[in-house]
Amino acid sequence: MFDLLDQHQVSELHVKFDASSGLRSFIAIHSTDLGPALGGCRFIKYSSEEKALCDALSLAKGMSYKAALAEVPQGGGKSVIMVPDRSYDHRALFLAFGHFVESLNGRYITAIDSGTSAREMDIIKSVSSHVTSTSNAGNPSPYTAQGVFEGIKASVKHKLGFESLDGLRVALQGVGNVGYELGRLLASVGAEVVVADVNKALVNKALSDFAVKAVAPKDIVKEPCVVFAPCGLSNVINQNSVDLLKCRIVAGSANVQLAQAELGQVLHNRGILYAPDYVINSGGLIYASLTHSHLLKSKHTAGESIADLHQKIQEKVRRIGSTLSDIYTRSAKDGRATSDIADLLAQERLASFQDQAA
Ligand code: NAD
Repeated sequence: MFDLLDQHQVSELHVKFDASSGLRSFIAIHSTDLGPALGGCRFIKYSSEEKALCDALSLAKGMSYKAALAEVPQGGGKSVIMVPDRSYDHRALFLAFGHFVESLNGRYITAIDSGTSAREMDIIKSVSSHVTSTSNAGNPSPYTAQGVFEGIKASVKHKLGFESLDGLRVALQGVGNVGYELGRLLASVGAEVVVADVNKALVNKALSDFAVKAVAPKDIVKEPCVVFAPCGLSNVINQNSVDLLKCRIVAGSANVQLAQAELGQVLHNRGILYAPDYVINSGGLIYASLTHSHLLKSKHTAGESIADLHQKIQEKVRRIGSTLSDIYTRSAKDGRATSDIADLLAQERLASFQDQAA
């Protein structure tokens, strides 16, 4: 067990079993150095407890790195709830999870992730204030899309020297919450957007609203384009797909795009510029973090106006482009993969904070 925590550099692991609701849940906290750990709650069918545990452990560090590079005052954590094998009461299950979150006294703040939505966050909210993405707080996806859009502009500028995306071909994998909004933004500045999604209704909507063409889901990775934007699955860049890519840039919202960390160097060696996933997709975290602290403050004082809050969020989301440019410059100077440079910068930011605190 401690070897696993060491491997994922997770400092705290919390376990909850509640027989009456059927809750079996893990909360992994990588760091609280920059602030309370913030990260989504996955509610998925896992084939074993070990798989559920490893999911929470492997995602917590990425949240710390994401917050460090987005410059939001949060640590990194992640939670998982195993979908019960027996019949269960949905509300009772999420109430039990809410009590679990509350028992950590704010060291961990939960949010939506695969299998959860504002509906579950609202249930948690009834027993804990350490929750974001409630129906009252709004949807983070448009901010994630905006951040990816800024990231694509910065990537195109670095790789090709172009200020504009006009006429550039973008292959968009997944047109769900983030992908649809990203496609709309890209088309609005003249990019040629090609889409794929396993959900045909979403493809048809994209075709009628902005896409020039749709291809089969299996073909989107090999679509000739300037930018390949993964906005669907994890592990999309793997040993099989990496040689199929016909793009100059990989820049999209999907979490954990590289199936193995070494693939960052493979992309680098192939001359494909990779926008590290947790940097380019941090718009949602920025939104969740700033909105959460705004809602907490406005409970006690008049505080900042909604307009000020949105301006602050927009400024930080726009900065995603310059953070990526810094990563690209250092990657070119050091001859190292952009994914390695992003990890290094995040580790440096966390270490400098620890030094200041000591
Ligand atoms: P979503 O579920 O709304 O959209 C994902 C889309 O990908 C769906 O339409 C799905 O049908 C499609 N898809 C699944 N398998 C596919 C395949 N094989 N080929 C093509 N399409 C496929 O999810 P989302 O909220 O838009 O998030 C997209 C990605 O971005 C996820 O990896 C998520 O973890 C990540 N992300 C999202 C946010 C956010 O704010 N929503 C923030 C950070 C990261």
